[in-house]
Amino acid sequence: MEPDLRIGLYVCHCGLNIAGVLSPEKLVARAQGLPHVAVCRHHLYTCSEAGQAEILKDIQHFNLNRVVIAACSPKLHEVTFRRLLEESGLNPYLLEMVNIREHCSWVHGGEAEAAQDKALELVRMGLAKVRLAFPLQDREVPMTRRALVIGGGPAGLRAALDIANGGYPVTLVEREPVLGGMANRLHRTFPHGESALALINPLMAAVVLHPGIQILTHSEVTGVSGHLGNYTVTVRETLPMVGEACHRCGRCAAVCPVTVPGAALAGVEARAAIYLPAPHAFPGRYVVDREHCTRCGECVRACPVQAISLEAGEREQQFKVGSIVVATGFTPFDPVGSRYEPWAALPGVLTTVDLERLQNPGGPTRGVVTFPGAPEKLRDVAFILCVGSREAEGNRYCSRVCCPTALKQALELKNRFPEVRIRIYYRDIRTTKKDWEALYTRAREAGVLFLRGRVEQITAFPGGGLRLAAFDETFQVPSEDRVDLVVLAVGMVPGNGGHLRQILKLPVGPDGFFLEAHPKLKPLETVLDGIL
Ligand SMILES: Cc1cc2nc3c(=O)[nH]c(=O)nc-3n(C[C@H](O)[C@H](O)[C@H](O)COP(=O)(O)OP(=O)(O)OC[C@H]3O[C@@H](n4cnc5c(N)ncnc54)[C@H](O)[C@@H]3O)c2cc1C
Ligand code: SF4
Ligand code: SF4
Repeated sequence: MEPDLRIGLYVCHCGLNIAGVLSPEKLVARAQGLPHVAVCRHHLYTCSEAGQAEILKDIQHFNLNRVVIAACSPKLHEVTFRRLLEESGLNPYLLEMVNIREHCSWVHGGEAEAAQDKALELVRMGLAKVRLAFPLQDREVPMTRRALVIGGGPAGLRAALDIANGGYPVTLVEREPVLGGMANRLHRTFPHGESALALINPLMAAVVLHPGIQILTHSEVTGVSGHLGNYTVTVRETLPMVGEACHRCGRCAAVCPVTVPGAALAGVEARAAIYLPAPHAFPGRYVVDREHCTRCGECVRACPVQAISLEAGEREQQFKVGSIVVATGFTPFDPVGSRYEPWAALPGVLTTVDLERLQNPGGPTRGVVTFPGAPEKLRDVAFILCVGSREAEGNRYCSRVCCPTALKQALELKNRFPEVRIRIYYRDIRTTKKDWEALYTRAREAGVLFLRGRVEQITAFPGGGLRLAAFDETFQVPSEDRVDLVVLAVGMVPGNGGHLRQILKLPVGPDGFFLEAHPKLKPLETVLDGIL
């Protein structure tokens, strides 16, 4: 330790973030006489130009050789103040940040006196630590110039392409047998009505054709160790039972004796145990559903190019990457297991995900909007918003895509069936992004009706059709309607599962989605360096 320690101590108000709870003036007064403190000041915003200039002046004037900043989290401004020390000629590691905002004023808002005492204790600890600090030199360590992207939906594809175009090789790991994510299940997209296929296909093609991108579909990350610049990743790949020779003639599916009902569109969407997950998606070949396949071998015998082998197992591989992008997206809210389950079980009740599939000419009904119990001519349709979102119990957040999805689908129905009467039951219409509000205007202009209220019950009429009972909040009266089709506008739930969270040791918020490093300043970064 240097014998002549001269520490500059700076306490920040952070506007009222800190000063609204404890008194920086009092803290300075109490810290003034602490050992080795040569100068002690408070500032409205220590990170401001004026705040930094004052510290710089003090370093020279008082010949300071250590600095302690009592302010916000080091994650926010440690780099700023290290640069300042460097500029002054001091070694940047002779700095200590004391977090009296996140660790004190923000968490002790209702106990000002205790917060004041705690802040002093934190400052004492910071001073004790900085007394032991010694100059450090930055070292360069070799790093792996390869990135891992987890998730091959629109976000993962875009990330992989941008990184690869920047000159860094990428390994893209997708859990499903094909790339594309939710975009494979969409028809027309809000806000401009482009087909999802037209948006996702060029992106997918660019990724597939890029020489710098290695694609591992039907694969999952099972282990990650190491640190920023040098991660070792373990991936388990389910090897395809249908090889590249497959030219999608479909003879295998035609002979397969197994029928697997569609997850949601039971009775409408059924497939064999060997199937084409999405006709346009990469890799463009049939896939064997291992869970339902009975290994009867009919498809192997029917395949004219011997592309099928029911023996294919799994393979594990390890490789190094320097950084990781997590783009695992979401899963649509499933009404099964929730208070919506009895409604969802009624014939004539679909989710927006189902309707998206039915409206799609590439979907199971080739674009015909039909469902069990559908009338010959669709006359009355109701959409219910906020299903699985903004719940008093359950998911409290707004999913944000269900309002524009319902508006887009209502407009598409109106376009196809101008006579159809559509009523949207809503709590609030949240068309928050650029161009989304125009959808709302267009829907009203097209004659879509809006009722602000709570849907309380849906029951089936014996002869067909549904009775929908609601409470109209605008007029404070009960409201009743008879409709052919009810569409539940389902929200989003986290799609990453606990597994990946544990492997990456990434924190999640109360809603279960990965936490951003800072909601405003670092909305795309996680708290772990090197993982985005
Ligand atoms: C009914 C409905 C309609 C919509 N309509 C529109 C629209 O019209 N316009 C619009 O802009 N948006 C629309 N959206 C929203 C849109 O689907 C999403 O914004 C978009 O899909 C998000 O892309 P993503 O890549 O983040 O996630 P996803 O599309 O969910 O892709 C994530 C990918 O990660 C994979 N994955 C998950 N976990 C793992 C893992 N552990 N390992 C490897 N891979 C993993 C998944 O299999 C998936 O392929 C709609 C959403 C819904 C539900
Ligand atoms: S082996 Fe499996 S996929 Fe092939 S026909 Fe039989 S059940 Fe279907
Ligand atoms: S986007 Fe609309 S429907 Fe979805 S949760 Fe938010 S307010 Fe409800």
